[in-house]
Amino acid sequence: MRSHPAVLAAEAAAGKDSLRVVVVESSASVGRLPYQRKKLVLMLSAMRHYAESLCAAGYSVDYVRARDFSQGLREHVRKWKSSSLFTMASSSFQTRLLQGELSTTLGVPVTVLPNTQFLVGSFTPFPETQSGKRYLMENFYRKMRRHFSVLLEPNGDPSGGQWNYDAENRKPLPKHYKLPPPCFFHPDALTTEVMEEVEKAGHGVGKVGGFNLAVTHEQAETALQDFIENRLAEFGPYEDAMSSSDGRLHHSLLSSYVNIGLLEPLQLVRAAEQAYRAGKAPISSVEGFIRQVLGWREYIYWQYWRQMPDLRTANGWAAKRPMPAMFWNADTDMNCLHHVIRRVIDSGYSHHIERLMLICNFCMLAGIDPAEVSDWFLTFYVDAFDWVVLPNVIGMGLNADSGQTATKPYIASANYINRMSDYCGSCKYDPKQRTGPSACPFNYLYWNFLLKHEKKLRAQPRLGPAVLGLSRIPAPERHKIEQEAERYLGCLESFTGYENGTIKQQLK
Ligand SMILES: Cc1cc2nc3c(=O)[nH]c(=O)nc-3n(C[C@H](O)[C@H](O)[C@H](O)COP(=O)(O)OP(=O)(O)OC[C@H]3O[C@@H](n4cnc5c(N)ncnc54)[C@H](O)[C@@H]3O)c2cc1C
Ligand code: SF4
Repeated sequence: MRSHPAVLAAEAAAGKDSLRVVVVESSASVGRLPYQRKKLVLMLSAMRHYAESLCAAGYSVDYVRARDFSQGLREHVRKWKSSSLFTMASSSFQTRLLQGELSTTLGVPVTVLPNTQFLVGSFTPFPETQSGKRYLMENFYRKMRRHFSVLLEPNGDPSGGQWNYDAENRKPLPKHYKLPPPCFFHPDALTTEVMEEVEKAGHGVGKVGGFNLAVTHEQAETALQDFIENRLAEFGPYEDAMSSSDGRLHHSLLSSYVNIGLLEPLQLVRAAEQAYRAGKAPISSVEGFIRQVLGWREYIYWQYWRQMPDLRTANGWAAKRPMPAMFWNADTDMNCLHHVIRRVIDSGYSHHIERLMLICNFCMLAGIDPAEVSDWFLTFYVDAFDWVVLPNVIGMGLNADSGQTATKPYIASANYINRMSDYCGSCKYDPKQRTGPSACPFNYLYWNFLLKHEKKLRAQPRLGPAVLGLSRIPAPERHKIEQEAERYLGCLESFTGYENGTIKQQLK
């Protein structure tokens, strides 16, 4: 945030001259998992650039490198004899618990201000929230649109006449489609220094080489403008499309920036709405994008706080299998997964549908333990944080939270992947075969999942038609599906894990 609430509040209370901004670089927070190296570069470089910009604006800054936040703050309070501290409420459940004890830990009054990286904190769409009750994202989103007066006509109707343009936004990418280039940045001297540091530390997955993300507010604003001018207009139709030649398509690539405070959610929403009002982008694309930011992002954050701490260990489908080794090396002959995992290892990014309908779909059908899947996402993605990974992976992707985040499991056979991508054309597997030596694993795993959970799924109205079809599968075919799924799952290599924050190369 350009205007951090804690800086504003401290300045209002004491005046700029007697305030000191403390920025803590905590080695504990970069050490729990062997995080994506590009994420480490992004976080460290953005923090150091932010500290530099505060100094340039005339603030006194104490940049502390410490084992953890508490130790860093204790050192700061002791060194500068601070009489009070202002901070913003963390988006992480665990850190917020620590913030609650900070006054006692530090021995000075600590004011924890509301988190301004999300809009749902300032407005509660469902004040009557009950634990265990299911709430629909669509209702949540409409309440947000009304409250923040987004894409509304003066009479209160939704702009364009509809609240939702999803039906127009499900096109595959046409052959030979020319995509606009993404907006990236060359590392400056400070970022290059951080890249060398992260490389030398040896910690993490992926490579620092090729780092090209925004690390300042100005660069992130340039990236937003670039998206609005060059990619928003076609965002809608191709938002669910997948392509072997490009993983970014018309997506905004802004999640990391908004998650670390280089951009604010309402800034994205207003910029897209303005493009619609100026006739630069159609309503279907603009509504589709605003639905992601004002709808999904806020809903996910709201679900995180509703469901924590139980969400972390939710496992509604009793999935126990360890994460397969291919997620660490992309070594699989399933063409779709090979491409997407390779990209995630290299860049720390894949778009929404590839996270949901390839990676989580596979993990759910294969019965992978939700905690292992969420740790994998936290490890590999540049934009990953606790508040966003747990509800998206455990709730939405794996439906392990008893359907509190999503009303149905997002599972599909190869038919969906074949329709929305070009992966199947050059795959050794046949997306049309359900069983047999060339059958796509997504097919027998999908039908095996339905058979295994038939009773539970029959109670899910939204999966009804697929489940009803099970009664038409003859007994020998059922047996074959189960046998092939068992054989495939039995051959999956497991990843044997981490050692002191680095990856042991030997695989089981
Ligand atoms: C299994 C799974 C895991 C995910 N993990 C993350 C994660 O670690 N970090 C993360 O920021 N997003 C995550 N998402 C949400 C979404 O996939 C990413 O925000 C999006 O792909 C980021 O790319 P983009 O900026 O190009 O997004 P666009 O497609 O351009 O969408 C615009 C913006 O909408 C927001 N958004 C859209 N959907 C969601 C959502 N479900 N939750 C939160 N924000 C959303 C993001 O800020 C995003 O930048 C996950 C989704 C799934 C299904
Ligand atoms: S055939 Fe199956 S494994 Fe191959 S790309 Fe298509 S969906 Fe993926």
